[in-house]
Amino acid sequence: MPSSLLQATGLTAPLTEDAVRRIVPELARASEREVYPRSVVASNGVIYFLGRRMLDKRLCLLWDESDLVARASRPSRAGETPAPPTDFCGERSHVQIGGLRLVIQAGYLDHQNAAALRRHLPFTAPQTLGVQAAFGAGDRLGLATPAHVRAVRGTGLRPVFAQQSIREMTRTGRTPDEVMDTATFGVFQEGWRDPFGADADHLKTAQDIDATVAAGFTMFTIDPGDHVDNEAETASADTLREKFGALPWSELETGADSLTRAYADPVRLPSDAVVTLDEGVLLRAAVKYGRALAHTAAMYRHLSGRMGGRPFEFEMSVDETATPTSVAEHVFVVRELQRLGVKWVSLAPRFVGEFEKGVDYIGDLGAFESSFAQHVAVAQHFGPYKISIHSGSDKFSIYPIAARLSGDLVHLKTAGTSYLEAVRAIAKIDAVLFREILAFAIERYPVDRASYHVSADLAKVPAPDSLSEDQLVTILDQFDTREALHVTFGSVLTAEAGGKPRFRDRLMKTLQEHEGIHYETVRAHIERHVRPFAR
Ligand code: ZN
Repeated sequence: MPSSLLQATGLTAPLTEDAVRRIVPELARASEREVYPRSVVASNGVIYFLGRRMLDKRLCLLWDESDLVARASRPSRAGETPAPPTDFCGERSHVQIGGLRLVIQAGYLDHQNAAALRRHLPFTAPQTLGVQAAFGAGDRLGLATPAHVRAVRGTGLRPVFAQQSIREMTRTGRTPDEVMDTATFGVFQEGWRDPFGADADHLKTAQDIDATVAAGFTMFTIDPGDHVDNEAETASADTLREKFGALPWSELETGADSLTRAYADPVRLPSDAVVTLDEGVLLRAAVKYGRALAHTAAMYRHLSGRMGGRPFEFEMSVDETATPTSVAEHVFVVRELQRLGVKWVSLAPRFVGEFEKGVDYIGDLGAFESSFAQHVAVAQHFGPYKISIHSGSDKFSIYPIAARLSGDLVHLKTAGTSYLEAVRAIAKIDAVLFREILAFAIERYPVDRASYHVSADLAKVPAPDSLSEDQLVTILDQFDTREALHVTFGSVLTAEAGGKPRFRDRLMKTLQEHEGIHYETVRAHIERHVRPFAR
């Protein structure tokens, strides 16, 4: 920080909380905006902060032109950004602070400013997180990151603040850039300084990879589920042998005989469990996952080429398959990934029991515990890498088990639950809008449920008009209502009436106008997810 700007603003570098408290009224006056105190940061002669006037949030920059000109004429030091910062856009004006004439620039929260922010303030850009316990917080509305930051702060978990599948982006009409940019601004608003990740979730094609690489994602979750042969589970020995012979051996870079020989010896896990893949088990595993492995390896190589040496993290997810991933299948999958040269940081098996969207685990907790322990043992033995829990929202009964067994080897993914809590915030703020959304969800559920794992019975969802205002808030805890609202988010966000969005604008505006209630509702709910995993 140049001394003149610091003196003018009464600050010393680095900015202490106290200094920020003192400068905030000054920044508010200069920008004629309400200032988010945690956003205030000084770097390379510029003070950055987020200001708000009604619903209009702006990225504000404040600098002393004469000082920056002086700096620009000096030979630049390593790591020093050329000044003044010309890669941001916004309206400029002049303000007087402490006898100095300063430039203030207020820009929209758009892609250009997000990209510039990531360049100038690297903590607003995603990073790789390593093999450390992580929490993924998908944000379908692009408004929830500040709430996610508040929930995760102090837990020691590595957060993923940008996380969305191509499927969800399509359903919400968002782009990879928008997902990334709202995470950047959310992190900036809340002053989160530790690393955070960006997970391009459930990618199925090379085009999905290209789109999310271009937007700067750092973690890539490949979903080869379409290539998993779910018939293997029940196929006869003859069918299995036939399917085994027909696997894409050249893509798998091996042959039937060498594959069989490779599994002759049993594997002893750190838990002392011994996993044997006899011929029947091996054939079934190979038939079930063979094509998925070939696809995953091809996607991995495509991704590595696209990243061109930049660091990235890779996850393989088979959570949306018809049958649970057995421990033997898990061993088979990771040994084959290793053989094919794939490096991964996490793997999402399909667990035993039901992981329906937005509701608690359905199934035998003892069975979950013993199979989860075995999956962790495989991850320790062949990794270490993380066991990724998809559809992880609201699975409160398994968190203590997963946290105890996994240590750092866990990645919990959530997304829809933040949307649901936003809808709960709507119920608190605008009963009329909430009733309309619920009525629409009831209408859409029979169609929208098709691609989701849910079992809600509409007969158990109360008619919106029958509920009192207090009941509207708590009906979000009712199983069937929660699932119905969960799977219809895309329809709600893209529905039109008379050529205009039917709910989207009202929904967004209401949450922005009452962002305190929105943040608090989401934070409180997400905190219940992260607390059991806190370090
Ligand atoms: Zn998933």
